[in-house]
Amino acid sequence: MHKVVIVGRPNVGKSSLFNRLLGKRSAVVADVPGVTRDLKEGVVESEKGRFLLVDTGGLWSGDRWEKKIQEKVDQALEDAEVVLFAVDGRSELTQADYEVAEYLRKKGRPVILVATKVDDPKHEHYLGPLYALGFGDPIPTSSEHARGLEELLEAIWEKLPVRHIESEPEVAGIKLAIVGRPNAGKSSLLNAILGEERVIVSEEPGTTRDAIDVHFTFRGQPFVLVDTAGIRKRPESLVEELAIRRSLKAIEEADVVLLVVDPFQVGDRELKLANHALEAGKPVLLVITKWDLVRKEEAPKVRRELKEKLAHLEHLPRVYTSAFTKQNLDKIFSEAVRLFELNHTRIPTAELNRWLSVWTAKVQLPNFKGKPLKIFYATQPEVAPPTFVFFVNHPEFVTRAFENYLKNRIGEDLGLKEVPFRLVFRGRRE
Ligand code: GDP
Repeated sequence: MHKVVIVGRPNVGKSSLFNRLLGKRSAVVADVPGVTRDLKEGVVESEKGRFLLVDTGGLWSGDRWEKKIQEKVDQALEDAEVVLFAVDGRSELTQADYEVAEYLRKKGRPVILVATKVDDPKHEHYLGPLYALGFGDPIPTSSEHARGLEELLEAIWEKLPVRHIESEPEVAGIKLAIVGRPNAGKSSLLNAILGEERVIVSEEPGTTRDAIDVHFTFRGQPFVLVDTAGIRKRPESLVEELAIRRSLKAIEEADVVLLVVDPFQVGDRELKLANHALEAGKPVLLVITKWDLVRKEEAPKVRRELKEKLAHLEHLPRVYTSAFTKQNLDKIFSEAVRLFELNHTRIPTAELNRWLSVWTAKVQLPNFKGKPLKIFYATQPEVAPPTFVFFVNHPEFVTRAFENYLKNRIGEDLGLKEVPFRLVFRGRRE
């Protein structure tokens, strides 16, 4: 999901702005515990779509911009796509405003300057000094009178990166399958996820059905863990073959597959599971767990060895985590959402063909008995996985090598290499 963060010194009206933007229609508001205890998060539902809104207001202790606050804001900004820089539209700029401005400039994220408390249009005349902050036109808003919010939403959507995502995750949630060899750490990871303070389990799993799906919400984003019973049952109680069958079934039901990898036990099993998922059109996230067992100085070596053993899966994203320390647990979810969205990318036909004509002009297309392959045009009729159909003069002229070459180009040029997109070649008369 897109992420938008509100930054600004105390008392400028950040939390009123936050509440106003969330409005009544919006989903969960969670006080986020832990290091980032003082962040407020909620999902804004607007006409153009949803985004996660984060208020950093609670991070300030006084009204001085201190290093301690800055470090926490740094974390909040990590995957932010737009920053709302809130300043009081009714009083003079303070030292802290200038310091925050300087900080945001260095961060280089797209910033929207929001002037708060502008209850009366007449007050807009006083906004001149705000240009000194160097973020262009301020957007005047009033949380009290609900002014300027539509304009602000518009500005936010203008700055959010454009993605051609076919469907937002359904209300039921993104379906995740946790798979991996016995003892990889699946059930420990499942427990770590469900025990996480930031996870809100919205539905108690039923006890009657054998395959238990667990629904939960993380940062306002609903997820479903598919067949958790299959993970919890120890292999001793579940014949190995049945365990495999269950994980293959879970893969087929999932939107995104979390392949749990023990860094000291890697081999064919992992490759087989990953290939099965990719062939089924499911994106795979490599979740390297038990990372607490890897000593800091050994980490580069272990990473390197893993890379070699998983060479065939080099293009897949990976997260290093641990069920015990819970490091990077958040990242599993943000990566899962990213993969879901990427797998739902639709490249508009015009863009696809523009790319294709530039590309075909540069390469030598294969020949068959002196007759060249011709590609007329391409379309993408399907998502999840993205499927591209190429209309060509003779499909049988397409060699395996050429197909792989084209696949690599699409992966790189269209940014799809992390998901299992497909190519289809169809004949068309010249
Ligand atoms: P499963 O068969 O894939 O569900 O694996 P389990 O979750 O039962 O874990 C297998 C073993 O690895 C158990 O002894 C766990 O205590 C241990 N384990 C799992 N995750 C971690 C971790 O993150 N760190 C450490 N040190 N041990 C772990």
